[in-house]
Amino acid sequence: MSDPSKATDSEQVSESENLQTEQENVEQPPVKLRKRLKRSWFLFSVLVLLVVLLIVRDDLRQSAAESSEKAVRYVTFDILGWSPRDVFIWRLRVAGLLDSPLGQRWSEAVDLAGEQPVKAGGQFRTTESFASDEVEAHVYQLSLERGEKLIWQFSRLDTAESRLYASLERREKNNQEWSTITELDADDAINSQVVSKAGDYRIVLQPELFASAEYLLAMANGGSLPFPVEGAGQRDIGSAFGVARDGGARKHHGVDIFAERGTPVTAVIDGYVRTGTGARGGEHVWLSGSMIGFGSARYYYAHLDSFVVESGDKVKKGDILGYVGNTGNAITTPPHLHFGIYSGGPVDPAPFLKPEPELPD
Ligand SMILES: [Zn+2]
Repeated sequence: MSDPSKATDSEQVSESENLQTEQENVEQPPVKLRKRLKRSWFLFSVLVLLVVLLIVRDDLRQSAAESSEKAVRYVTFDILGWSPRDVFIWRLRVAGLLDSPLGQRWSEAVDLAGEQPVKAGGQFRTTESFASDEVEAHVYQLSLERGEKLIWQFSRLDTAESRLYASLERREKNNQEWSTITELDADDAINSQVVSKAGDYRIVLQPELFASAEYLLAMANGGSLPFPVEGAGQRDIGSAFGVARDGGARKHHGVDIFAERGTPVTAVIDGYVRTGTGARGGEHVWLSGSMIGFGSARYYYAHLDSFVVESGDKVKKGDILGYVGNTGNAITTPPHLHFGIYSGGPVDPAPFLKPEPELPD
């Protein structure tokens, strides 16, 4: 077996040689041939290594077999961007059915249903069915803000072996195109997705051609973080994100949550804290999912009466970080927590702080 680091080196050398050859003289077949041989030796070594691993490592072989369906889905959906429904369309095309009136109706059914989607915001639950002699799709749509959490439960109520394609799709603001975020499994489990991009979201359901199906779909949307002030809620948010500050010189990069002086403020995630005292934020705490603060959103708790954690402390979601006050530039206003979220810039915390979603019974 060749040393992998050596193999990489020879790859780099052959790349630069390749450039030189093209610049200097194209008519040098022996050099090219040698490089090709080097490259194929490298690929061959990798292949042999993989085969040896699969033979030696029994556990790898087993998991490879078990996950083969997932692997196919990974390649088709995650790499090529084809959903199982796209693959079915491709099969219809190969079978010569896609251009038939029936194939056309099937492939256009989602667009048709999407023109008048069922509104599914808040708490939503339905049981519906598809008849085998109809060509239809069902579309359930709602709008979501960044930081909201969508939860859903999807299950088949019939025992037919037919495929029922189900996907969660998103259309960003100022965009006409829908893109698939994930396929839905009819697993009867409660699944969730935290919204990283605001926009329209929809769940699309369509059985394969000539198939009947009956299903249950329940969904709900709400916040993705626990409320950071004990005993307080959305009604206590007094000053919204984005309003003018200092006579319009800057914008409010958080929300103000009003509460009695001394009310505990709590960690919204598991993470690490950094504390400080400043003219603007007063006694304040930064909370981040990672030690250094990279790769994770940062949460800012300001105007605290006092904090009870130290820089570098590891905290759990729900742990008390400090107490509501009016330190810093809030000295003339009633006690409140200024709560900010920074993730590639300031983000409106309000959608994150909505009550957590619950599926209807
Ligand atoms: Zn504020």
